[in-house]
Amino acid sequence: MMLPLAGQPLTKESRLVQDSERSLWSRLAALFTRHDDESLEKAILEARAEGEVAADEGSMLLRILRLDEMQVSDIMTPRTDCRCVPAGTPLPEATRLVIASGHSRIPVYRETRDNIVGVVYAKDLLHTLVAPKADQILIEHIMHPPFFVPETKMVLELLQEFRSRKQHLAVALDEYGGTSGLVTIEDVLEEIVGDIEDEHDAPQEEYIKVLDAKHFELSGRADLEDLAELGIALASDEVDTIGGYLSLTAGHVPLTGEEFVLNGWKFKVLEAGAKAIHRIGVEPADDRSA
Ligand code: ADP
Repeated sequence: MMLPLAGQPLTKESRLVQDSERSLWSRLAALFTRHDDESLEKAILEARAEGEVAADEGSMLLRILRLDEMQVSDIMTPRTDCRCVPAGTPLPEATRLVIASGHSRIPVYRETRDNIVGVVYAKDLLHTLVAPKADQILIEHIMHPPFFVPETKMVLELLQEFRSRKQHLAVALDEYGGTSGLVTIEDVLEEIVGDIEDEHDAPQEEYIKVLDAKHFELSGRADLEDLAELGIALASDEVDTIGGYLSLTAGHVPLTGEEFVLNGWKFKVLEAGAKAIHRIGVEPADDRSA
């Protein structure tokens, strides 16, 4: 947004722009001095509702504010979804695994995924493809040292460290030193600007499909906080996802067809595997429309 330079006459339009910017920024400035995130959030919501900031700019400001409370475990790709290569793999085979993964950085493990010993970059594999005797080179000969972070690290601190260490990927560890997942700069950026799909991304699974105001189809990974925003209140200190919540409630991974009535809602498991629930249907517990 351009404001007139000092000494230039103010047009009606630029005066309006200045006024609206002044009111938002003076509101924000007053709030920042009080370090009160809730009031800040309220000011941004008000400014967005009054059209002082564009809807998408307002949403981005809110996301940045919420980033302040997030830990690595909130945004990482969980261990079960990490694509890794075992140490000892010769380069041609490793290259096939990396291509199949669709990712450009792959952790290397020795014996178990709890023992990550390095990270291989797809671009390094390119150089070695033309090397003589590439099949005698093992993946550990070209890997980089891993960057480990505790899963409890705050996301804003992680962002600083990514920048100062010039790293793009970190391996998140649980409190026992086991691997709990991996996190990249893209995971952090997505929290600020929303999903970024790159040219290799598989189509996104829809976590919450709104069928109508009272009927939903959920992925087992749908976040309990996102459900709360739809009025489906299921809070837990132990799990973050609806799949985890239903497994915790049942005491086992529920089978396809199992139903739960919780807090006025009926949850029906539409599809489940041996280790996780995939899809869940939700409707009001007293629904007679079916
Ligand atoms: P890439 O383009 O190599 O996939 P990005 O940094 O753009 O890497 O990350 C895109 C998403 O893929 C992020 O959610 C990130 O956590 C995930 N990701 C990156 N590398 C891997 C990997 N080796 N295994 C599983 N997920 C990964």
